[in-house]
Amino acid sequence: MRIDNEVKLDYADVLIRPKRSTLDSRAKVDLNRDFGFFKGVPIIASNMDTTGTFAMAEALDRHGMMACLHKHYAVADLVEYFKVPRARTAYSMGITKKDWERWKEVHGQVPAGHIGVVCIDVANGYSEQFIHFVAKFRKEHADLTIIAGNVVTGDITEQLVLAGADIVKVGIGPGSVCTTRIKTGVGYPQLSAVIECGDAAHGLGGRVIADGGCVTTGDVVKAFGANADFVMLGGMLAGHDESGGEAVEKDGVKYRAFYGMSSEYANEVYSGGLKDYKAAEGRKVMIPDRGGVEGTIQDILGGLRSACTYVGARELRELPKCTTFVRVNSTHNRVYESFEV
Ligand code: 5GP
Repeated sequence: MRIDNEVKLDYADVLIRPKRSTLDSRAKVDLNRDFGFFKGVPIIASNMDTTGTFAMAEALDRHGMMACLHKHYAVADLVEYFKVPRARTAYSMGITKKDWERWKEVHGQVPAGHIGVVCIDVANGYSEQFIHFVAKFRKEHADLTIIAGNVVTGDITEQLVLAGADIVKVGIGPGSVCTTRIKTGVGYPQLSAVIECGDAAHGLGGRVIADGGCVTTGDVVKAFGANADFVMLGGMLAGHDESGGEAVEKDGVKYRAFYGMSSEYANEVYSGGLKDYKAAEGRKVMIPDRGGVEGTIQDILGGLRSACTYVGARELRELPKCTTFVRVNSTHNRVYESFEV
């Protein structure tokens, strides 16, 4: 047993210190990045059932943003969707034999180049089997951009980049409907995970996605400030028209389902129930309907632009070097929060 006494931080543990800035308008801030394999605003909808949808991908694409499709679309629907090239939509898969066969089936029917990004993710990116799978996938597909995850430490981030991943997905347990930390006691504070994995990946020419744990636009800004190349959002994009999924009305209020992909609910829908050796590591929630995602997108992009003007970053790319985090005990005043109209 070992104890690491160095303090590790979450988004809620810090604020960003403002700096002198010559920027006189938020409109002048450029949020686009060009990584070669991706051009646009590097915010990604999570590959969860009610965020990684075709409708969400199209809504985000209009703003240059990206989506990872969830893993449960029918092959025919995927083939239809990828009839046109989708530079900012990732195909998602796990590492089972079934995942591999399904990928072959879809890939075989889609014109070359229409799928450019593949997200290979498992709950625990530390298994050797996972790293071997990424390496095998890279060998077969030199032309595709590979996202691989999830991990939270520099050592495995390096291993994944060396195995062929272009982008490593970072985050174990920070998600809004995730219960891994409660069920297992395993996890790593997300801001520190992003800083450490980013450092490891960038040293080898790789990129990182900060996946999970963003509750506010301020958190998205902190993730970019911490050197994330991309930020992935589940909960912040859930509950919209584009999310689809189950909707119910109760006392005149419309609610939409949102759930962890390891929740008991998701296990029931896709695996015929929880296996007797497994515990669910996610929850299902019903959240008030938020209408179209357009307003939320504007809120996120507006917050990011504003943050850039506070610290003097003309482009999103400059944000990390303009960021000084201040450790805090409280990030904001909540006194009238529940009275908002
Ligand atoms: P959020 O943006 O909602 O805070 O986090 C979204 C992320 O939570 C997803 O991209 C994924 O990495 C993670 N996630 C989704 N479902 C589950 C689950 O059932 N269990 C766990 N541990 N993580 C989940």
